[in-house]
Amino acid sequence: MKIRENISLRAHNTFGIDKKASLFFEAHRPEDVLEAIRQANLLGKPLFVLGGGSNVLLVEDLDALVLKICIEGIEQIEEDADSVLLKVGAGVIWQDLVVTSLQLGLSGLENLSLIPGTVGAAPMQNIGAYGVELQSVFDHLEAIEIATKQSLTVDKATCAFGYRDSIFKNEWKGRYVITRVVFRLSKKQRPVTSYGDIERTLAEMGASSPSPENISKAVIKIRQQKLPDPKILGNAGSFFKNPSIPQAQFSLLKERYPKIPGFPSGPLVKVPAAWLIEQAGWKGKRFGRVGVHENQPLVLVNYGEAEGSEIVALSKKIQTDIREKFGISLEREVNLVGRDDVARP
Ligand SMILES: Cc1cc2nc3c(=O)[nH]c(=O)nc-3n(C[C@H](O)[C@H](O)[C@H](O)COP(=O)(O)OP(=O)(O)OC[C@H]3O[C@@H](n4cnc5c(N)ncnc54)[C@H](O)[C@@H]3O)c2cc1C
Repeated sequence: MKIRENISLRAHNTFGIDKKASLFFEAHRPEDVLEAIRQANLLGKPLFVLGGGSNVLLVEDLDALVLKICIEGIEQIEEDADSVLLKVGAGVIWQDLVVTSLQLGLSGLENLSLIPGTVGAAPMQNIGAYGVELQSVFDHLEAIEIATKQSLTVDKATCAFGYRDSIFKNEWKGRYVITRVVFRLSKKQRPVTSYGDIERTLAEMGASSPSPENISKAVIKIRQQKLPDPKILGNAGSFFKNPSIPQAQFSLLKERYPKIPGFPSGPLVKVPAAWLIEQAGWKGKRFGRVGVHENQPLVLVNYGEAEGSEIVALSKKIQTDIREKFGISLEREVNLVGRDDVARP
């Protein structure tokens, strides 16, 4: 087991924040995860689990064993008339899984094309895009409990998936390492095209009865137009979640802002956070080394050598302003990572 010391995490987070891990280790097999937990115990260090670093904002150096999950493998484990079960290593790059599923002629992941990061992190916030969430294709996952080193299987109901949410962000935060995820993908096409610009983009592409590949290409095209590439401009995608507010509050806002968009979400109305942030005048604003992206106001960006704390400060100003202007609290989607966010084995 090769534990490296005093490693910069800059290349390991898409915000490009230059914080250090006192210890760093890559797990290529579930046994490596067990060994890392043992070593962390021996050395008296907490553990922090990292995938592709595309949903974290590092605010401090981590005096911890940072465990980067690199478990590979995509294996077909079951098949029936309608579907196939794929067991996938937590370190597989999400987009590689999407591409493999399309090559196998399977449907279910096409709308989730080009989301950065790893398969093991996908259940954490029930990743979603263009009208589809992970939970629609999730079967179960395999994990290791850090405190006991026990392996366990976690079914869908236990994961308590919600909008950008799961048990792993709540009661089970920091307690488990996800090692593999099992997906049930469909052999039949189930196109979801009503969301965002998908239909218009498909029409431009001349795809009248779109295949999963067509939908994937359309989603990739839209995403590349709207979202900054973290290799060029540091960011972690949407910084805030879309808030849901009571109907009565929405009706009052509609009187003041007739153009405010809203989508039914159970008894509540979901309001695009991007609209609120743009309306409040933040879109494209730059403050020194950080700013709000010019095309997508939900995305906060690092223009260069910014500290995580500068991005946090900007996010707090935006939250305060949106609360004052609209009476709406914006919740962070990105995980802040500092001393208190590491798990003690
Ligand atoms: C440009 C851009 C666009 C994005 N678009 C979307 C989008 O459309 N929809 C969406 O939902 N998200 C989006 N995201 C956010 C991000 O891609 C996802 O949340 C992704 O699942 C994070 O994967 P990761 O491997 O990078 O996780 P990391 O950032 O490494 O980790 C995220 C959290 O999960 C934990 N974690 C990671 N791996 C494991 C594991 N194996 N076991 C236990 N805990 C683990 C970490 O400790 C951390 O708390 C976007 C990000 C970027 C940069």
